[in-house]
Amino acid sequence: PYTGPSGDEIMAKRKEYLSPSLPHFYQTPLNVVEGRKQYLYDDRGRRYVDAFGGIATVCCGHCHPDVVAAIVEQTKKLQHSTVLYLNHVIADFAQALASNLPGKLKVVFFTNSGTEANELAMMIARLYTGCHDIISLRNAYHGNAAGTMGATAQSIWKFNVVQSGVHHAVNPDPYRGVFGSDGEKYARDVQDIINFGTSGNVAAFISESIQGVGGIVELAPGYLPAAYDSVRKAGGLCIADEVQAGFARTGSHFWGFEAQGVVPDIVTMAKSIGNGIPLGAVVTTPEIAQVLTRRSDFNTFGGNPVCTAAGLAVLKVIEKEKLQENAFEVGSYLKERLNGLKYKYELIGDVRGRGMMLGVELVSDRELKTPAKAETLQVIDQMKELGVLIGKGGYYGNVLRVTPPLCFNKEDADFLTDAMDYTLSRM
Ligand code: PMP
Repeated sequence: PYTGPSGDEIMAKRKEYLSPSLPHFYQTPLNVVEGRKQYLYDDRGRRYVDAFGGIATVCCGHCHPDVVAAIVEQTKKLQHSTVLYLNHVIADFAQALASNLPGKLKVVFFTNSGTEANELAMMIARLYTGCHDIISLRNAYHGNAAGTMGATAQSIWKFNVVQSGVHHAVNPDPYRGVFGSDGEKYARDVQDIINFGTSGNVAAFISESIQGVGGIVELAPGYLPAAYDSVRKAGGLCIADEVQAGFARTGSHFWGFEAQGVVPDIVTMAKSIGNGIPLGAVVTTPEIAQVLTRRSDFNTFGGNPVCTAAGLAVLKVIEKEKLQENAFEVGSYLKERLNGLKYKYELIGDVRGRGMMLGVELVSDRELKTPAKAETLQVIDQMKELGVLIGKGGYYGNVLRVTPPLCFNKEDADFLTDAMDYTLSRM
């Protein structure tokens, strides 16, 4: 049994010594002390199905023994900065990662987070093109440092940032957007921004394949091919932010962008790549990568042996345990079941997403799509009491996010849906 500090004691310390902006969803915050596979355990030994672990980076499941072993073994051997000396782990992982990417995407730069990866990707694009303008999508989340906060397009995540050269295009949101599911119509706004908001040349276009923080928004079909076309004609590079949608999460593909049939010039990733270990990466072509030889590029811990050993183990686990296939199979089943709830409850306005990246948008009026924000928090809190953890997203805070570890099984999917059903039935 757990003998450590209680939730109240931790909360008191947190209030005194930690950032006052740290969030927690629940009326009584959860004191999690252990994680195994798709389950978390609290200080009373109570088990929770973790259907939000995906955002917190866990794709193989909590404390996967192969990943833990890789981390422990490497920590015993060597942990250092990989920048100055040779070490095979970083090279082996870069090779394995590159072999999972299409076309000429073969050169890897390692970072410690998704923010750092996107900052680097945007800098590379600006260097390569000699342009400054970057187009991102409204409702996007790309990070919380200066450049990425500028590219992020939701006021709730932005402080007093100087948004140099960033333009936010109309979001190709099939549920709330004005053009429904017509991706090509939304993409005309990218061309308009190029025509009327820039010199006619741009550095880059950056977008998630499925918006995560924005509330699991799948880009309208046909959007990326048309947007990429406009951007490339304007000399810009296309950046795919795969921080959430990558690493087999969408089930149908290993990378989210593949669902729209495009090949980006730069791909950024983090979260799942290390199964909980801080690690991020930028992958691009040899030609584009050359721009970083103009000056010195240094990241002390980016690609350090312990994190890259974890990354290599993650790729092996995804393959060995057929996690992509599982994400597809169980994810499709779960989506079907959630869609079943939509027919039962008026409160559910939309069920969307792919694989293990699903969203349920709650509205108090289906016609007007009025965000049901308070109800969303209530559902999340009640489901926790029933032993299921899910997340919240969307600009209006009215989307339930279901992004479990990829080892989630059908029983978990049933348990989750039943818990949501029971919760909604009592509201
Ligand atoms: N891109 C996307 C799509 C993300 O969801 C996030 C994190 N929520 C980031 C970038 C930033 O990653 P990090 O928090 O690791 O800096």
